[in-house]
Amino acid sequence: MHEVDTIAAIATALGEGSVAIVRLSGPESIAVVDRIFKSRKRLSEQDTHTLTYGHIVDPQTEEVVDEVLVALMRAPRSYTREDVVEIHCHGGIIAVQRILRLVLRYGARLAEPGEFTKRAFLNGRIDLPQAEAIIDLIRSKTDQAQKLAMRQVEGRLSQEIRELRQKLIELLAHVEVTIDYPEHDVEDVTTHHILVEGEKVVERIEQLLKGAQTGRILREGLRTVILGRPNVGKSSLMNALSRTNRAIVTDIPGTTRDILEEQISLRGIPIHIIDTAGIRETEDIVERIGVERSREALQEADLVLFMIDASRELTWIDKELLQEVRKYPTIVILNKLDLPRKVKTDEILQLTDDAPIIEMSLKEGRGIDALEDEVERLFFAGALEGKEGTYVSNARHISLLEKAKRQLEEALSSARMGLTLDLVAVDLRNAWETLGEVIGQAVGEDLLDQIFSQFCLGK
Ligand code: GDP
Ligand code: ZN
Repeated sequence: MHEVDTIAAIATALGEGSVAIVRLSGPESIAVVDRIFKSRKRLSEQDTHTLTYGHIVDPQTEEVVDEVLVALMRAPRSYTREDVVEIHCHGGIIAVQRILRLVLRYGARLAEPGEFTKRAFLNGRIDLPQAEAIIDLIRSKTDQAQKLAMRQVEGRLSQEIRELRQKLIELLAHVEVTIDYPEHDVEDVTTHHILVEGEKVVERIEQLLKGAQTGRILREGLRTVILGRPNVGKSSLMNALSRTNRAIVTDIPGTTRDILEEQISLRGIPIHIIDTAGIRETEDIVERIGVERSREALQEADLVLFMIDASRELTWIDKELLQEVRKYPTIVILNKLDLPRKVKTDEILQLTDDAPIIEMSLKEGRGIDALEDEVERLFFAGALEGKEGTYVSNARHISLLEKAKRQLEEALSSARMGLTLDLVAVDLRNAWETLGEVIGQAVGEDLLDQIFSQFCLGK
């Protein structure tokens, strides 16, 4: 076992709310606070899970720093499973910072970001997916993302992974028995069993990975590319969407025409919009470049908003781009319908595979609601499949699940080809270990530090 010291940090966001909390965890927590806390009962004599009223007093100057409530949670019934003391102060930022300095002066060490949660993990209070979900929770920007993070806190992914590992253990047991007692001639039965049951595990991993796509969207935003010829109204649409949907982050601030990318929350769905602007409407060669650039922007699109100026005839460039976007979920927008209409719906339908079409006039503010309805509908239609399932929302989980799937498929193909069961066993074991890494079994120190350093201070 390693030495455990006592850590402290401000656990509430500075400047938010009227109560701020200094949190301590570790064997000296109670002793440290007793040195600066004046109340009718010493903390060391107090029961666990109590709130004690008193004052924080600077022992050097005898000055009262703040009137406080002190919460005491003795090990192991605390978040970190160590002695935890929380000083709830009322005096605002100055007071909370002075109190933190006092506890540091009397024996606590400033916690590293995420160190409280790291201790909770190391002491078996939470498992790794839960810890990582807490990171996501702290960072999540919208309600949707928050719900997703919450679900993982509840440990559903961990539960799922444990079940899959259990299945693999059962298969391994079968294989081992067959290897140990070859005279029983059960190899064919075992192989068949592995193929059937192993395939189920592969399918389940695939489902988890499918949900992972939704998870990524919820954290990073639906990558939505606004595409169309120059002057069809792309920038105007970008502005309209940003105006009506409180922008969370503006990546590139500037004048209306300069906004190329923006993070918005559309009915609770985080969306990262990209305007493929900056293309001048002149000679063919320039438009060519425009098509190339749009193609690049398309690469990672989750959704394409394809804009057409309905007051002009379709051009070859409209048609070419429409061909291009067939591969992506697309909403076609016919804009400028306040002007005499030159584009028929049928023409568009011929060029797309049933893409929804929204009629719009940004000038008159018409069609934006319908567009939002459609985005919402598409999003939830896609997300619904995974709604009852478990989401994987983290790049590390995704790559581990992909690895486990490869290892398992390796095992299955060996079994299918009738290779020796020893080989099958090796791959099964590898897959089992890889899944173990998702829930933090057999994780090296390095990885742990990397994960926990993502936390905010005090968490
Ligand atoms: P972009 O080049 O595709 O980004 O197009 P802009 O958003 O810059 O718009 C090009 C021009 O079309 C601007 O003068 C807009 O004011 C105008 N515009 C945009 N939407 C409409 C619309 O619905 N009706 C009309 N009449 N003009 C529009
Ligand atoms: Zn523009």
